[in-house]
Amino acid sequence: MPNSSSSDTMPEFDIVVIGSGPGGATTARFAAANGLRVLLVDKKQELGAPIQCSGAVSYNALEQTGVSPSAEFILEDIYGFAIYNTKGEKKVVDYRQIKPDEYGSNEGNKPLGYVVDRRRFDRYLATQAERAGVTIWLKTEAIGYRVLDNGSCEIDLNKFNEAITVKAKVVVGADGVQSQVGKWAGIKTHIKLSELASCLQFVVDGVATEGLLEIITGHQWAPGGYAWVFPKGHGYAEIGLGVTRTMCTDNAQGYLDHFIKNSFFKERFKNSRILEIQGGGVPLAAPLKTQYADNLILVGDAARHVNSITGGGIHTALNSGKIAGEFLAALILSGKPTDKNNLKGYHDNWLKAGGNSMWKLYRVKRKIFDTADILERDEQLYKTMSNYFSPDSEYKKI
Ligand SMILES: Cc1cc2nc3c(=O)[nH]c(=O)nc-3n(C[C@H](O)[C@H](O)[C@H](O)COP(=O)(O)OP(=O)(O)OC[C@H]3O[C@@H](n4cnc5c(N)ncnc54)[C@H](O)[C@@H]3O)c2cc1C
Repeated sequence: MPNSSSSDTMPEFDIVVIGSGPGGATTARFAAANGLRVLLVDKKQELGAPIQCSGAVSYNALEQTGVSPSAEFILEDIYGFAIYNTKGEKKVVDYRQIKPDEYGSNEGNKPLGYVVDRRRFDRYLATQAERAGVTIWLKTEAIGYRVLDNGSCEIDLNKFNEAITVKAKVVVGADGVQSQVGKWAGIKTHIKLSELASCLQFVVDGVATEGLLEIITGHQWAPGGYAWVFPKGHGYAEIGLGVTRTMCTDNAQGYLDHFIKNSFFKERFKNSRILEIQGGGVPLAAPLKTQYADNLILVGDAARHVNSITGGGIHTALNSGKIAGEFLAALILSGKPTDKNNLKGYHDNWLKAGGNSMWKLYRVKRKIFDTADILERDEQLYKTMSNYFSPDSEYKKI
């Protein structure tokens, strides 16, 4: 066990952020830029690896959180969507046609979003944090925290396999879908199997794409989720899907094989060659009802800040990181206690800035997947997805 006794030599920070994905790196960057002493730790030695993400993120998400689009991490520009129903009928929403003066590859135009390389994106975000003054320790796993009588806390770390304890006012759990940090503080973080999507994706050569994110709905292809074909830059593509295991008769690999061999895309896929296999879990669950405790808050996947309709969590993690970093800087620099009563302010800010919308999206998702009749459910999902991505989407108002 690490030596937990306070000593003059114990490293001390204002906050310690656990996990350097989009949520943690952004929290750290905004906290440091606003004057805090920040330690960011990640158990990985190479951020973003192995890749467990398709990397689709909107232009707006980057702009709102101060991330300049960079060739360092962008694999492909995205201009819209093609949404398919279970039979292969599609609705195309291409902003190069809808708003040609604003979107496109011509000079002065912009893309709607990007597919990013998560290895390079996560490293870029960490670099931006480091340049804002954050201390970063890789290959450092956080294993526990204790609240002290003096209002601060101690965090036990395993740094390059050596135990070390650091002191801080707040610990930020940004440790992803399998988060343990919330559990340390007794926060209920359990995800039901019926609300966890198992995702599998193949990076392939030999499949043509055209700057659109293609989304394929239908229980026969991806029960409790959807399948996708995304461009990955340099002529590569990604074929993937997410399924909810409690609605399945096979595993994600069985469904992906079935989709590739038997769907209306089979001709398009017939020359595909698999270059990489990636997978992971996405919480299609409600945001946590409590995302704070004494000296502790949660951001990103750890707090279930995921869009339950699309499964996207990069934008929401970036956003909650910005909210968290700015909030913690204001609270700590004010000298007020960092107890749960004051840290509730982070949760309140998050609800106002978009958390309430995430709750509404979760209810929409529940309504769809609680529909027993498969044809009706397929129809609802296709309509919701088509509506979600349309320029006059009612979901933009949520
Ligand atoms: C197959 C797949 C495809 C996806 N595609 C998309 C997509 O196209 N677009 C989109 O928006 N979202 C997508 N997502 C979701 C997206 O990847 C996540 O929502 C997003 O990464 C959440 O960011 P985060 O910072 O909260 O957590 P993460 O990115 O998971 O980062 C958590 C970090 O915490 C570290 N960590 C964990 N425990 C500890 C510990 N004890 N000590 C130290 N470090 C720790 C991990 O090493 C990791 O680096 C996809 C997910 C999957 C599985």
